[in-house]
Amino acid sequence: MPNPNHGDQSGDHSLNVGVGDFRGANVNISNSERPTFTPEQLYIERHPAFGGRSLDSSSVSSFGYITGAASLIGLYFTVFQPPLGGQSSWSTFFMFSFVVAVMAVAMSAVLRRRKFDHFFGSRHYLEMSQNGRLAVNRLTAQCPWCGSLMHLRHVGPKEGPREDLFLCERNPRQHTIQLDPTALPDLED
Ligand SMILES: [Zn+2]
Repeated sequence: MPNPNHGDQSGDHSLNVGVGDFRGANVNISNSERPTFTPEQLYIERHPAFGGRSLDSSSVSSFGYITGAASLIGLYFTVFQPPLGGQSSWSTFFMFSFVVAVMAVAMSAVLRRRKFDHFFGSRHYLEMSQNGRLAVNRLTAQCPWCGSLMHLRHVGPKEGPREDLFLCERNPRQHTIQLDPTALPDLED
């Protein structure tokens, strides 16, 4: 038995699939109530250390590989074929240079991703330029609350997570700004 089609079949036949519309949704991923500032508002300045000298990052990592291989070979010979006397001091030397090599390789690998990391001490920062050159800089800013000088410091508990904060010279406890290094202008060679 045919099924007569009743009803109005007109229409634009458009199909409305509910794709989530997130426009206007307020996604808050920031967990602090601290205000944010742009680098322009803070007058962030870079102060190059070591007279503005920079290093090629690929030569840093190849330095690491060569030194690492050389120190392993040296370690092998001092441990398994000890020369007369002085064995322990040589193996210490090769161990030390191996650690230096691993650090050089790891550091350039980290910087290739992050372009910014704190350097030894708390005031100096290693940065990688667009052309892959490494330079050490200090960073200062102007306090948006009182106009005093601010220094970027790597601060935090000894074992805990540390963060990079601009600390005001006049009120270093309350006038602090967390730095987002990705907001910094690119380092030019
Ligand atoms: Zn201040």
